[in-house]
Amino acid sequence: MRLPFDRVAWLAALLALAACTTTRPLPSAEPVPLLLISVDALRVDYLDRGDTPNLDRLAQQGVRADWMNPSYPALTFPNHFTLVTGLRPDHHGVVHNTMREEGLGAFRVADLAAVGDGRWWRAAPVWIEAEKAGMRTAVWAWPGGAAEIDGVRPTRWVPYNPDIGPARRIQDVVRWLQEPAATRPRFVALYLEQVDNAGHDFGPDAPQTRAAVREVDAAIGMLVGALERSRTLDRVNLVLVSDHGMAAVESGNVVTVEDIVPMEDAAVVSIGQSVGISPRAGRTEVVEARVLGRHDHYQCWRKGELPPRWHYGSNPRVPAIVCQMDEGWDALPAVDAAKRKPGTTRGSHGYDPALPSMRAMFIARGPAFRKGVRLAAFDNVDVYPLMTRLLHLHTPDNDGDIAPLLPALAPAGGSTD
Ligand code: AMP
Ligand code: ZN
Ligand code: ZN
Repeated sequence: MRLPFDRVAWLAALLALAACTTTRPLPSAEPVPLLLISVDALRVDYLDRGDTPNLDRLAQQGVRADWMNPSYPALTFPNHFTLVTGLRPDHHGVVHNTMREEGLGAFRVADLAAVGDGRWWRAAPVWIEAEKAGMRTAVWAWPGGAAEIDGVRPTRWVPYNPDIGPARRIQDVVRWLQEPAATRPRFVALYLEQVDNAGHDFGPDAPQTRAAVREVDAAIGMLVGALERSRTLDRVNLVLVSDHGMAAVESGNVVTVEDIVPMEDAAVVSIGQSVGISPRAGRTEVVEARVLGRHDHYQCWRKGELPPRWHYGSNPRVPAIVCQMDEGWDALPAVDAAKRKPGTTRGSHGYDPALPSMRAMFIARGPAFRKGVRLAAFDNVDVYPLMTRLLHLHTPDNDGDIAPLLPALAPAGGSTD
């Protein structure tokens, strides 16, 4: 675990941001950039703990949702791609953080070659649509941002790098937004993973997780401060989201994948909370007889028979059988289960998206948005049609619906050129 607070880096970032203050404000005739920021695993009730003064201020000056529902499975890659495509994971094809496809091989988030390979990303995210419409875009580590999709890439993209902290990422974004119109991106996406890391290592209620929330909130405060000083804050539409929440997992709450299904009968394609099982040739009946149905701490279905509210199971990348762990339980190989330190608490997500612990945040501020609006909960597929509206893009068919977000839009209807 890295130090959540590196004072030297902060001071350097603050000085660098202060140096940006002489930049002229964006003339009002210029298009308003859209900045999308994801704070991975910022569970919506983290906003009620007194750790987020800067997010609170943005919400007061703009809009926040009671909460946002993640899509199934409540994991990082599927939901980040859903946020920027408006498609459920079953429809955009990033069906899990760990996947297999015949002919393509295996996908894992830690495999940067696979993460940057456009063949895994079969839908066009909003930055690709924007580039095709002649806009410049910039993407900092957002899943999919490093891939060429439909032969197109963002004008600028920075690959995921855990060694670069939130303050330095924010500095890059501020610099981009303060460029002259000739090079300034119209759409920027930024990804921040620090809250997710701490939540996994220590659990959602740990002081370390709260410290990570405060660190990220302070970095967002630096962004707002820099935009305020350069009088650009009111000429940017900010949308801040998370991908899912986080649930506490006690160290003993582990089911071993070998107990779910013997390895000689099936390949276990994904582990964790949403477990994908692919029976070996001739073993389907044996495996189904063993795993389908309810068990202590998990339940398994054939892919075509999953609960309809999860909108999941038709994609060829979803393995034949899916087992869903109960909240607070993980499925791990025995070797990894043995490494769990007894008596400790960790955190996991990937549980039923309808659980309160999986709820994500949505905050928006800028000229397109009303001030002081509180929206009822909506699904994260609905963020995409909001973004295409703000960018005046043609909106390809998707699973989202802008209707729940319309009360958030200023009278101009979000048409902020
Ligand atoms: P999860 O396993 O769902 O908690 O995924 C979160 C992790 O995904 C982060 O801690 C990173 O390690 C990894 N990650 C997030 N974004 C990217 C990216 N763009 N490229 C590669 N890895 C990423
Ligand atoms: Zn995540
Ligand atoms: Zn995570």
